[in-house]
Amino acid sequence: MDDDGITHRVEADDRTRPRSMTTDDTVPDPLEEQLPAVRTALSNASRLLACLDFDGTLAPIVEEPDEAAPTPANEAAVEALAAESAVTTAIISGRALTDVRERIDGPSIYAGNHGLELERRGSVAVHPVARKRATRIERACETLETALEPIPNARIEDKRLTATVHVRSVPEAAHPVVERRTREVVDRFGGDALEISGGKQILEIEPSIPWGKGNAVELIDAELPEDTVALYIGDDTTDESAFRAVEPDGVGILVGDDEPSAASTRVASPADVASFLEWLETTGVELLAE
Ligand SMILES: [Mg+2]
Repeated sequence: MDDDGITHRVEADDRTRPRSMTTDDTVPDPLEEQLPAVRTALSNASRLLACLDFDGTLAPIVEEPDEAAPTPANEAAVEALAAESAVTTAIISGRALTDVRERIDGPSIYAGNHGLELERRGSVAVHPVARKRATRIERACETLETALEPIPNARIEDKRLTATVHVRSVPEAAHPVVERRTREVVDRFGGDALEISGGKQILEIEPSIPWGKGNAVELIDAELPEDTVALYIGDDTTDESAFRAVEPDGVGILVGDDEPSAASTRVASPADVASFLEWLETTGVELLAE
């Protein structure tokens, strides 16, 4: 394994890019309203890069994260899209690479741990700084197992480069305790090397390096021909950097309600994602210029 381009982009890029939402963000328009713009973007390109988040996007959110699976419609749509010769399909997930890879077939590219590990053409690149900090993540997880043991249903997932504390099934009243204890442990084992970020019903423990899903998308896009249009579909705050990476020339689609986002477009659910992916595969690819 090598770092395969991941390193220099760290220094070049991210000091100025906000990692989550900014005040510039507005509520994305429903897909029906944005469809003409999507058609135009496809017509102006000859290839499509379709980047897809997994949980909450292809797979409905479930109580037990281990049981998450794509809807059958999304499974079929992703496989069909990935088989199109003018389309590059990539899965960009917060899950560990080995985990998300087992959950969905078809794409030639997978990014795990929010882009810290990237598999292309059968070879895996790992962010070198993240790799060095994996031992700290492991220690923090071991200690958290004890620290959170008394909290009902708190679950710690060691994803090697990052870790997730799942609070979805934890009684609401206990959330502050989980957060405080997690913070104490991360401070102890991480110092300045680790940080905590929030997601939907999760606390993510990660190396404090300016690298996220948006960087992974840029890295993938940079290898494709100039006239490629990039599309990203995701549902959570960690997807915002990826929306920023594709907009405004490409299309960012938020799966969710009417919350502000860097995405221009929104759909309501994984079922709508499947409909859109089916549209892309049947009609969208036809719009790509010869
Ligand atoms: Mg998600």
